Amino acid sequence: MARPMRIKNARPDPDGTTSRPLAVLFDRDGTLVLDVPYNGDPARVRPVPGAAQALARLRTAGVATAVVSNQSGIARGLLTRADVDAVNARVEELLGPLGPVLVCEHSPDDGCSCRKPAPGLVLQAAAALGVPPQRCVVIGDIGADVGAARAAGARPVLVPTAVTRQEEIDDAPEVAADLAAAVDLLLGVAVPAGPP
Ligand SMILES: [Mg+2]
Ligand SMILES: [Zn+2]
Repeated sequence: MARPMRIKNARPDPDGTTSRPLAVLFDRDGTLVLDVPYNGDPARVRPVPGAAQALARLRTAGVATAVVSNQSGIARGLLTRADVDAVNARVEELLGPLGPVLVCEHSPDDGCSCRKPAPGLVLQAAAALGVPPQRCVVIGDIGADVGAARAAGARPVLVPTAVTRQEEIDDAPEVAADLAAAVDLLLGVAVPAGPP
């Protein structure tokens, strides 16, 4: 990653949300797999490096996982729900069991309650796993993921990519350089403090 990055991983814990999470809800595109806009082709799925290992570490630690993904390409007529399901199946084939996969099929103009940064997908995933949203972490690559976590009362962790905007990084309460660092943060593995 060329961009200098602050790792913000120390904060007070008044509400217990920095204790070990019961579940981690992952954004899909740009977080678990490389972002191919409106991808409906399983053959084009490429995991983000470290994604399989990050998921495996969480499974081993007994932390449940899920995926929360905006797929407005469905509303836009660019791909079908079956396409999205086929891509999700390929992601699971490459990365191992993901847990529940929650998808928003709407467009930004639909005013739905599930398209991130609205909280709906996060709340649905938490309900599917039977855990309170306050004990869930959302890992994503853009501000909408952070916003959805906040709106649902979950804990956001941003893992930026080259396309993440600096304002989104500045706004995120916790930022990790990659998925391995994010899991270190969540499982309480000691990591060197970043520059202030
Ligand atoms: Mg994303
Ligand atoms: Zn929606």
